[in-house]
Amino acid sequence: MNRSDALIEIDGIRKSFGDFQVLKGISLSVQKGEAVCIIGPSGSGKSTILRCINGLIPIDEGFIRVGDHRVHEMKNEKQMRPLRHQVAMVFQQYNLFPHRTALENIMMAPVQVLGHDRAEVEARARALLKKVRLSEKAGSYPGQLSGGQQQRVAIARALAMHPEVILFDEVTAALDPETVKEVLLTIRELVEDGLTCILVTHEMKFAREVSHRVCFTDRGLIVESAPPVELFDNPQDPRTREFLGQVL
Ligand code: ADP
Ligand code: MG
Repeated sequence: MNRSDALIEIDGIRKSFGDFQVLKGISLSVQKGEAVCIIGPSGSGKSTILRCINGLIPIDEGFIRVGDHRVHEMKNEKQMRPLRHQVAMVFQQYNLFPHRTALENIMMAPVQVLGHDRAEVEARARALLKKVRLSEKAGSYPGQLSGGQQQRVAIARALAMHPEVILFDEVTAALDPETVKEVLLTIRELVEDGLTCILVTHEMKFAREVSHRVCFTDRGLIVESAPPVELFDNPQDPRTREFLGQVL
């Protein structure tokens, strides 16, 4: 039995690296179709939360469920595989294969990992390129694309696996300011289409306009979690106020 009808349910997760406790009891639920932003100072545990959700890092204590996958109970890579297909992750470094075109990068996992029909995968990959406004770049290699364009290919590649959830970890942090906008626009459109996602971001305007809820993390805890208007206009915790005072 699941504890709630949320798509993602996280309860009391703790994680230490050596003597250092990075997560000190994180709880969070995300409904289907919800976009949750995580903001907070560098080193507060934001990336670690995302990595725990898709099983990249085993937790010490607590409960994590994504759909029907009980992540905290998984013991090995084989058990993780179905979870990884459901939970895509997009990183700051897009890591496209340099010797494959944009189209081939998007097609690789569905063909090689899921064993789907090549022609169907190609049709879907082209539709995804259109979705991220890069139809004309299907035959381009990553080195021929701007950072923002490469990141949009990486997002299309994640979508090609039909994930239930996408975790975005500071996907615009390494981009030139002029290409940040186009990547945020793509994510905004996906959220409007009903994609469930958790986004770690420093883009406060984006968090405010696009997300349904914002969580502020500090030193391994979610200090405050609220709809963006409440969190930005009327933060309750002094640590949230201090952080927003520095970044806004
Ligand atoms: P954020 O994404 O909020 O900047 P992280 O989740 O990356 O923070 O890291 C939180 C803390 O955990 C940092 O102090 C970081 O140095 C530490 N940390 C993260 N990953 C590891 C690891 N694999 N081994 C040791 N320490 C780590
Ligand atoms: Mg991080």
